[in-house]
Amino acid sequence: MAKKPKITIDEHGQERNRRGEWWSGRPVFLEPVLDDPLNFPKIFKWLTGFPGFFFPWFAIYMVLIGVCYVWFTPELSRMETFQLGWMGEIFLRNLVLIWVWTGIIHLWFCGFKMQGRLKKYNANWQAKNNATFLFSDQVWDNIFWAQVGTLIWTGYECFLWWGYANGWMPYLDPAEHPILFCLLMMAIPFWRNFHFYWIHRLIHWKPLYDWVHFLHHKNVNVGPWSGLAMHPVEHLIYFSCMLIHVIVPSHPLHMMFNGFQTALGPAVSHSGFDEIVFGDELALRNDRYMHYLHHRYHNVNFGESNVPLDKWFGSLHDGTPESDEHFRKLHTERAKAMRGRQE
Ligand SMILES: [Zn+2]
Ligand SMILES: [Zn+2]
Repeated sequence: MAKKPKITIDEHGQERNRRGEWWSGRPVFLEPVLDDPLNFPKIFKWLTGFPGFFFPWFAIYMVLIGVCYVWFTPELSRMETFQLGWMGEIFLRNLVLIWVWTGIIHLWFCGFKMQGRLKKYNANWQAKNNATFLFSDQVWDNIFWAQVGTLIWTGYECFLWWGYANGWMPYLDPAEHPILFCLLMMAIPFWRNFHFYWIHRLIHWKPLYDWVHFLHHKNVNVGPWSGLAMHPVEHLIYFSCMLIHVIVPSHPLHMMFNGFQTALGPAVSHSGFDEIVFGDELALRNDRYMHYLHHRYHNVNFGESNVPLDKWFGSLHDGTPESDEHFRKLHTERAKAMRGRQE
């Protein structure tokens, strides 16, 4: 069989390597709060820019939690005891959110293929007729596990609502502490990613990987539904970031934001596309190459773009050929050392 050419040009004029992968040519995006030294004008631009810290995702989650808090959350007095009625209502609301949110993102990129393979990291679409996945279909496998995740997210949310209803949760009153309220809201994405880095390293410990995390990593070629495609034990560990509100005085809106972002964010971060392209003129940078590389190589990029932990612990693959070379060498050296120990 003829060897595949090193580089091919796809139907959008993008260069793809032998594995069919496309790269934007930019190193992985790290939020400017990780710059050394800090560049304050750049941070300000990122805070207020589009896309930036607030826009669009933070702002969209704010609208969603606002709407759900006012119209789609049971009255506090009903939540004093665990009852299927109000818990079922929250589960239903969360199911609708997951289906509409992840469904729209999936339909845009993979269902209706609105931008074809333009800015898509991997040349292939999600696997079909592949026994690795439940129902031999990657998308339906991913959808199934995402429903389990929604149940576990709801479990945490109900437990915390029950705590607020019974008055034992530490509470932050926004009328009394409006600035603290806002700062805590802004801190949640950082807390989530800090938590994610550590639990992610934990589930890469071989026994846990083989039991639990392998399921998420079946998705080398990720899609929006892959984000929450996890083993239930991983869901339990992953959503445990919401328990911070048992310790830190918060408003239920903080708890909802934490949960919503943890549940809805993975659809965006696993989309597999570098940009959302709306026609010839308009594109929204998505910059999710960092986590794409984690699915590709497994032992790099355990964290996300706003925590410095991968940088500090030497696991940051920034997507450049130099980084690739560095990790390739490291891998070979480790394999050699391993063989040496076994002989
Ligand atoms: Zn992932
Ligand atoms: Zn992993």
